[in-house]
Amino acid sequence: MKINYLILLLISFLFNCTLERRILNPPNLEEENIDKKIVCYRPIRKNGPAMYLQTLEDKIIAHNYGHGGGGWSLAPGSAEYVINKLDARMKQLGMSKKEPIVVVGAGIIGLFSVFELIKKGYKNITIIAEDYNQLPSNHAGGLWSPFHIGDISKKKDKILTIGIKSYNFFLNIAKGKDKYFECCAKVMPAYFLKRNPDLELFVGTILKPAKQIIADFNNGFSKKMYVYDNTMIMNTPLIMSKLTDITIANNVKHIKRKIKSFSELKAKVIVNCTGYGAKQLCNDDNMVSMQGHLIVLKKQNPNNLNYLMTVPFEESYLDGHKIKRLYYLIPRHDPGTPETRIGVIGGTLVEGVEKGVDNSQEFNKVIQRARKFYVE
Ligand SMILES: Cc1cc2nc3c(=O)[nH]c(=O)nc-3n(C[C@H](O)[C@H](O)[C@H](O)COP(=O)(O)OP(=O)(O)OC[C@H]3O[C@@H](n4cnc5c(N)ncnc54)[C@H](O)[C@@H]3O)c2cc1C
Repeated sequence: MKINYLILLLISFLFNCTLERRILNPPNLEEENIDKKIVCYRPIRKNGPAMYLQTLEDKIIAHNYGHGGGGWSLAPGSAEYVINKLDARMKQLGMSKKEPIVVVGAGIIGLFSVFELIKKGYKNITIIAEDYNQLPSNHAGGLWSPFHIGDISKKKDKILTIGIKSYNFFLNIAKGKDKYFECCAKVMPAYFLKRNPDLELFVGTILKPAKQIIADFNNGFSKKMYVYDNTMIMNTPLIMSKLTDITIANNVKHIKRKIKSFSELKAKVIVNCTGYGAKQLCNDDNMVSMQGHLIVLKKQNPNNLNYLMTVPFEESYLDGHKIKRLYYLIPRHDPGTPETRIGVIGGTLVEGVEKGVDNSQEFNKVIQRARKFYVE
């Protein structure tokens, strides 16, 4: 018995010796390194995003909402998918490229939808949005990882196709082949404690299989982790601003307004990219708001933050709402800020909490988890 145990110990020791050791420097996490604290809300649709055409009275509505915690990862492919469908329908009905089209929503799904419409030659586009600035799309960290909750098994193939399209769009940028979106995406390794099911879906097509390594935190502590070496970081604020520039250069009208019903709009063609707003607008009970807390870092050494990381800590309840507490690090850098103001850490996934209850006590917990992770 004792000998068997010793043999197992020896095998495990030899296995660990064969694992690659990688230095992952922790971010600076003192009080002076904390910049902004942000609460925002993922527009989750329980059984996957809504991406379909609907005829409502005399209107065609192209729905594209509910991308949850993975909207950035799916945006270019998802916009192309829905706008292709809309374009085909409009051609079938003999509608012209000058037909007025209203895109409701100015988040990343709305902006990529406008981008697709412009590429297809549509000339009379208006964006109507309740808000243009403080959106989930502006706050997202930018890890390429299509994240969902609920049962998406029926949409798995569609998500795979759309995810691959989106990944390749960003990869093209990362390879320096897209001059317009220059510096907007970078291939980067992402570290997890276990294999990540959202990423596993893409292994063998676009992602290399996860590899087990020893993450050495350069402070005497190390952990066994899994790494996906060719996932991606998207520069979310830079892409938002470039897409906005494209809309302006192409004479797209911008109107700030909340709509209560599609029938308020004169246009016969509408693209619905309202994120969580679709819960009311479409009476969609599958829409769930999922609160997130993230903290922007400053006074960092940018050379240290060259990796992405997501680690779950606990699942519990907060005032009756399911909460998942994580530690994640995304080396997001906002254009126009010092290069040392780099990195966002998170986070939380608080199911069903809407604007109004900030749960701001979670920020301290985020910082504590981050500090703890690198020294245990
Ligand atoms: C903390 C956090 C971190 C995230 N990190 C990542 C990440 O690393 N990677 C990733 O892929 N994704 C991430 N996401 C998810 C991603 O940000 C979202 O999936 C994406 O931004 C959703 O985009 P959207 O355009 O559908 O919605 P939104 O950005 O919410 O935009 C919706 C738009 O519709 C408008 N609108 C809504 N209702 C109405 C109405 N009735 N009338 C007029 N206008 C209306 C709004 O004003 C807004 O302009 C994260 C999200 C959060 C909250």
